[in-house]
Amino acid sequence: MPVYGSIVEKTYAALAALTPFHAWNTFQDLLRQQYLPEDDLRQIQWRRFRNILEHAWAHVPFYRRCFDRAGLKPADIRSREDIARLPLTDRTELAAAFPDACRANTIPRRQLRLVETSGTSGAGPFRLWIDWDALNEKYALLLRNYSYAGWHFGRRMTALWNQAHEDYRPWWRRSVLKTVVYHLFHRKRWLPPLGPVGPLDEAGAQIYRRRLMRLTPFLLEGDARALYEVGLRCRPGNLRPPPVQVISSAASATSADLRRDLEALWGAPVLNNYGPHEAEGLACECLARQGMHLSLDAYLVEWIVDGRPAGAGEMAELVITDLGNRAMPLIRYRTGDLARAGMRRCTCGRTLPVIHDVAGRQADALWTGRGWFTETDFQDLLRPLGMAYRCQLVREATDAYRVRFIDPAGVDGDVARRLQEALGQQLGPAARLVMEPVAMIRPEPSGKFRPLQCPGGEGA
Ligand SMILES: [Zn+2]
Repeated sequence: MPVYGSIVEKTYAALAALTPFHAWNTFQDLLRQQYLPEDDLRQIQWRRFRNILEHAWAHVPFYRRCFDRAGLKPADIRSREDIARLPLTDRTELAAAFPDACRANTIPRRQLRLVETSGTSGAGPFRLWIDWDALNEKYALLLRNYSYAGWHFGRRMTALWNQAHEDYRPWWRRSVLKTVVYHLFHRKRWLPPLGPVGPLDEAGAQIYRRRLMRLTPFLLEGDARALYEVGLRCRPGNLRPPPVQVISSAASATSADLRRDLEALWGAPVLNNYGPHEAEGLACECLARQGMHLSLDAYLVEWIVDGRPAGAGEMAELVITDLGNRAMPLIRYRTGDLARAGMRRCTCGRTLPVIHDVAGRQADALWTGRGWFTETDFQDLLRPLGMAYRCQLVREATDAYRVRFIDPAGVDGDVARRLQEALGQQLGPAARLVMEPVAMIRPEPSGKFRPLQCPGGEGA
């Protein structure tokens, strides 16, 4: 709807000119920056990195202490190689410094917003102070990510998450501004959240089908598990898939094969999107689907193994520095997510490099001695058995695993046997598996589903 889109754009431009809500201008800058020569992009990144370092050292007690302990001052970080000398931080350390020691003492508290993330991998929620400029920039990054999918104002979007997602909080626990912006400007609507892990019944599937046929979104964004479950049930037999142009998959790691299944189910391209709450808009795929474009102008990303930079292609933990948020800087922040190291060029023409997809949480992955067995590896093992998102592997002790699986036919010995064989091959002869057929698998109290719960360290 071009008229609608143009009204929204003009409204945003007017707001940027007349009020402190300047996200539109930042978005225009970001759109230009995605095609800048790579050297220019890296210069922007380095300049912002230096600024945030100086700022954190001068004004954030937590970082002053960290740097002092390491015997470093910002002036000691002269090149990119020097970055590895700076200490890593994680959510536990920052949570211990909350609310004041992790916050810049130059910005009055009343000017800050508080972002609360849901807990992952058993950790509690994480709270983050964010300043107004950073809030504007995160929103602009979100818009740029949507633009990779071909979405623009005026086009409809629909969301489908699990019940833990903040969009499903009761209205009094949501940001009024965000809700209004999404409804009115993004033309965004929500499908009902997906509940426990298990097949949708026919009545549930009907609700999704009917809603999608009515909404006809250009962009459907959602959690990969929810997209898979609803996709399966909305397209039984040769029924046409619901009318969706592009799908954006986030919140769960998705293997390349599973993504292909999703595309076949929905008859639409599926773009991977990665941006934890602490680092929104970090990376997102474009329609060329060659990896996720990293927002190099807003974040600095490192791949770290045992404290050292990873080699190209090596599976490593993603460590990020947020170049925008001065209220509570995140410098060399351990995300806890695993991905293969390295950046490449995409053929779409954008100069923002692309990175590999996230393979899952490190805290849930199993170290096999040869490498990590990650959530995406687990999905790839389950896929040929028709068990993707239908199974949970929990390591209860060394070499002792509980395998919960949804048995579609009630008691189907064949499914259990094939699953046990495949897992036995992966985990080795010493592994003892307790097979537990269940009608459904409960997600975490936070609402997230953790298919793999194998705290790493000891081998399989
Ligand atoms: Zn691209």
